[in-house]
Amino acid sequence: MAVPKYRTSRSKARMRRNHWRKMDPVPSTECPHCHETKLPHRACPHCGFYNGMEIVARKEEAKE
Ligand SMILES: [Zn+2]
Repeated sequence: MAVPKYRTSRSKARMRRNHWRKMDPVPSTECPHCHETKLPHRACPHCGFYNGMEIVARKEEAKE
């Protein structure tokens, strides 16, 4: 098995690991039910709806 000849310098290792910082922020989509911003492929944190059904029970049920 091939073995690296030289130790990767601290600087080079950090440069390699740093790439995720340059990525775009987490994408967000609009909830079709309440039009709040939510993460894609996740139930809406605002209304608890996903795929047209209420999946997650809301905490503030008495509010409405
Ligand atoms: Zn929603």
